[in-house]
Amino acid sequence: MAAGSPWALSAAPHVAVIGGGIVGCSIAYHLAKSGARVTLIEQHALATGASHGTFAWINATWAKQPRHYHQFSQAGVKAWRRLEHELTIPVKWGGSLEWFASATRQQQLLSDIKEQIAWGEPARMVAKERLEQLEPNVDFSGTSDAAFSPNDGAVNPVLAATIMARAAAGLGAVIKEQCRVESATELPSGQVMLHTSAGMLAIDRYVLATGASEGMAQQLADIALPQRSTPGVIVITAPQPPLLNRIVVAPGVHIHQRQDGRIVLGEQDGAPATTAHVARLKGRPRQFPNTALATAHAQRMLTIAGTVVPGLGSAVVEEVIIGWRPLPLDGLPVIGSVPRKRAAYVAIMHSGVSLAPHVGDVVAREIMTGQSVPALKDYRPERHFMSTGQY
Ligand SMILES: Cc1cc2nc3c(=O)[nH]c(=O)nc-3n(C[C@H](O)[C@H](O)[C@H](O)COP(=O)(O)OP(=O)(O)OC[C@H]3O[C@@H](n4cnc5c(N)ncnc54)[C@H](O)[C@@H]3O)c2cc1C
Repeated sequence: MAAGSPWALSAAPHVAVIGGGIVGCSIAYHLAKSGARVTLIEQHALATGASHGTFAWINATWAKQPRHYHQFSQAGVKAWRRLEHELTIPVKWGGSLEWFASATRQQQLLSDIKEQIAWGEPARMVAKERLEQLEPNVDFSGTSDAAFSPNDGAVNPVLAATIMARAAAGLGAVIKEQCRVESATELPSGQVMLHTSAGMLAIDRYVLATGASEGMAQQLADIALPQRSTPGVIVITAPQPPLLNRIVVAPGVHIHQRQDGRIVLGEQDGAPATTAHVARLKGRPRQFPNTALATAHAQRMLTIAGTVVPGLGSAVVEEVIIGWRPLPLDGLPVIGSVPRKRAAYVAIMHSGVSLAPHVGDVVAREIMTGQSVPALKDYRPERHFMSTGQY
């Protein structure tokens, strides 16, 4: 029996993809492309979960550890090069520049980059004079050099997910929004009955692409997936004149400029663990409790970003989002069939933006052929999860 998928399905199986974030939309597209009858089910609107409140940096940088996960991330970056052309998704390529304020951390970056090179990345350290040529609108006075990872890119994740879902629909997929899957019951015929807020749906297989919704794997597939989730604030400005060519990962803030001119800011550190913050974040809000707090937070991030990109100081803020990361406890993706539920398949991960096109492809392949994809062997849901605490 193949580890990833217990049996090959009939020519046009009906597969439900639960969760309409960037991962679910990509899986729905790749399944539909492979000949499945697909129903994509999202409890809210498409791409309103982590795939909305994300920095959306496509990368396989030093943080992707260990080696097999780095390789998987490299495949993710490569798959974006395919999908951007296949579906005409705008991707801002150009690479990333990263540096740290602390001398110790900057020293560590040097050895991280050596490892990157050994692992086949064209990354390198670049001296300040060259950095100033690459990004003339960035103030590099706080550093003498930075890591340049030329393969990296960034997307508008909501647009990308929407394009994938639209392409799936073009291949016959049914998209159900505002529809929540409550439970899944195996029928004697081998089919599964999904009980949803909009009625029952009989399907052959179902994929959980439910992101940070902890407990959903237990509820829908009877498997305990140790997951946690941490918040991060994303600020999006109104379109600006061209300021940045690359992703800038500076001390305290991550910055990139989309092709539509909007600047995206991501905070580097999470919320301080004060009692007030813990209470405010308890229900996992996606928005600040009031406009004044949202504005204050955005201004704080803009001020930090303004020290790195001085032309940014007066940008008008359009959106302030609290994103919640889907974090399997050991930091690695969870992808594969659920051993005790023949019809269930799980695809939950951080760095889902970087990975979505590749994951969509390999998940569709496993489900449609019943053959295990060897690159997924370290990500199976039945593995033992060790806590890493990354992010
Ligand atoms: C602040 C922040 C910064 C990040 N930066 C990056 C980055 O730079 N690069 C990167 O690659 N990744 C990044 N990530 C991670 C990345 O955004 C996520 O891994 C990715 O968006 C996950 O996509 P998804 O489709 O799995 O989850 P989601 O987008 O959360 O989608 C899951 C969907 O499932 C739906 N759902 C759940 N349960 C049900 C149900 N029972 N019925 C119906 N629908 C259901 C939810 O409503 C949700 O819409 C970041 C995340 C955050 C929060």
